[in-house]
Amino acid sequence: MAANEDPLKRIVSHAKEYGYVFPSSEIYDGLSAAYDYGIYGVELKNNIKEYWWKTMVHGNENIVGLDSAIFMHPTTWKASGHVDAFNDPLIDNKDSKKRYRADVLLEDYMEKIRIQKIEKEVKKAAKRFGDDFDKETFLKTNPRVLQYTQKIVDISSRMGQLLEANDLNGIKALIEELGIVCPISGTSNWTDVRQFNLMFSTELGSTADGSSKIYLRPETCQGIFVNFLNVQKSGRMKVPFGVAQIGKAFRNEIIARQFIFRMREFEQMEMQYFVKPGTELEAYEEWKERRLKWHKNLGIDPSKYRVHDHIKLAHYANAACDIEYDFPMGFKELEGVHSRTDFDLKSHEDESGKKLQYFDPEENKSYTPYVIETSIGLDRMFLAVFSNSLVEETLEDGSSRVVMKLPAALAPVKCAVLPLLKKDGLPEMAKEIFNDLKLDFNMQYDEKDAIGKRYRRQDAIGTPFAITIDHDSLEHKTVTLRDRDTMKQARVSVSELKQILSEKTSMAELVKGAL
Ligand code: ATP
Repeated sequence: MAANEDPLKRIVSHAKEYGYVFPSSEIYDGLSAAYDYGIYGVELKNNIKEYWWKTMVHGNENIVGLDSAIFMHPTTWKASGHVDAFNDPLIDNKDSKKRYRADVLLEDYMEKIRIQKIEKEVKKAAKRFGDDFDKETFLKTNPRVLQYTQKIVDISSRMGQLLEANDLNGIKALIEELGIVCPISGTSNWTDVRQFNLMFSTELGSTADGSSKIYLRPETCQGIFVNFLNVQKSGRMKVPFGVAQIGKAFRNEIIARQFIFRMREFEQMEMQYFVKPGTELEAYEEWKERRLKWHKNLGIDPSKYRVHDHIKLAHYANAACDIEYDFPMGFKELEGVHSRTDFDLKSHEDESGKKLQYFDPEENKSYTPYVIETSIGLDRMFLAVFSNSLVEETLEDGSSRVVMKLPAALAPVKCAVLPLLKKDGLPEMAKEIFNDLKLDFNMQYDEKDAIGKRYRRQDAIGTPFAITIDHDSLEHKTVTLRDRDTMKQARVSVSELKQILSEKTSMAELVKGAL
C-alpha cells in the first residue's frame, strides 16, 4: 500500500472486489449507509455470529437465546426512553445545504487541534531530540502542548454541559465562537441546532384510520426485557441468568460514514444478564473481563483494544464502559458493557402495569433483578476482524501477495481443492475429495488458471488451507496441504484430510479459549 493511501479505502475496495461487502442497490448509485454482504461476507458474518452465540449460549448453562420481532408495541419505546430522548443535535449549513451532527462538528474540531497542533509539536520535537525524545514527558511538560490540551478539555466540558442541559442555542453559539466552518462551503452560515429523533417510524395496518405509528427497533435488547418472564418461566431460569439475542437494529443516523462502522440498518449481538440487586458491580467487572477475553482469543494484537470507562453515566446506569478497537480510522467503540440497574424492567412494569419480578426461592421473596448488558455491533466486529486480517506481504523472492489472515474458524472458505493440471484424471480425483469434504467444511473447487494464481486468489479471500492434487496423488492417494500463512506444503494422505481439517478449523476449539 502506498504510504499516503487511506487504509479504509483499501479495505472497502478489497471487500468489494473479493465478494465480502457491496454497496446496497449499487446499480442505482447506492443507498447511503446501507451495505450488502456478498458471497464471502455472509459466511464471515455467520461465523462471527456462531463464535459469539456458542460462547454465550452453548458455553454457559445459565444463558439462553431469544429471537424477538423487530416490530414491537410502540409503548416499548416510551418505556425505554427512546421516544423522548433518543436524539442527536443536528445543524445545517445554509450555503452547502449539508447536514451535520453539532456534537460531531465540535468533536472534529477538537481532533483537528490534536492532530494539527499537538502532533505537529511532537513531530518537531522528535526530530530535534532524536533518540532522547520521550513523548510522554513532552506531552506533560511542553507549555504549548499543555495550552492546546487545556483548550480541548475546556471545549469538551462546555459541550458536555450544554448537551446535558439540552441548551441547543448554546451549542450553536459555541460552534460560532470557535469559528467552525462547513468543510464543503467553507462558511459559518449555520441554521439553529435542532433535536432529531433517530428512530425510523412506519405505519402498522393497511387503512389510514386503523393504522398506528410503530418503530423499527433501534436496539435489540428491549425484546429481551419485555420477554423477561416468558424466558424465565419457560426456561425455569434462576437468577443470575442471561438472555442473548442477535438481530437487526435501525437508526436514522444523521451522518453515516466510515463504511460499515456506522450504518442505518445494522446488526447487534446483545446479552442481558439478570442479577440480584447488590451483586451487579461484581457481575459488571466479570463481564468486562469475559468480553475482553472473547476478543483477545481471536489472536488480534491486544494493543488494538482499549477500555474507555464512562465517567459521566447515563441516569439509569451505575457503571459503564466501551471496548474500543483501533479501526483503520482510529480507536472507536466496538462494544458496550453497561450496568443498567433495574431501570428497564421497572419502566416496562410502570408502562404495562404487569409485574416483572423474580421470585427468589432461596430468599423466599420477590425482587426486580438488576441487569448487566453486553452489546456489540456485528458489523463493527466484522470490520475489526476484516481490517486486522488484511495484509500485504513481501515474499523472499521480492514479489508481494495480499492475504487475509483470518482465524481459520472464522474464514468463509476453510479449504480449496485444486488439481495441479486440468487433465490426466487429476480433476476427477480432486472432485471426489471435494465432494467428500463439502458438507463438513465450506470448500471451494478451482481448476482455472496456473496453480500460483489460484493460491493467490485463495490468499486474498482468506482460505486457510489448500489441497493440491498432483500425479503422485493418483498413485499414492496422498495430496499436498498448503498453509495460507506459512505457505508451506505438507504431504498427507487423503484418508487423514477430514481429521486434519476438523482439528485446524474447529469452532468448538476456538470457543473453548474464550470461556
Ligand atoms: P456510537 O456512540 O458509536 O453511536 P452507541 O453508543 O450509540 O454507538 P450503543 O447504543 O451502545 O451504541 O449500541 C451498541 C453497539 O451497537 C455499539 O457498540 C456498536 O457496536 C453498535 N452500533 C451502534 N450504532 C451503530 C451503527 N449505526 N452502525 C453499526 N453499528 C452500530
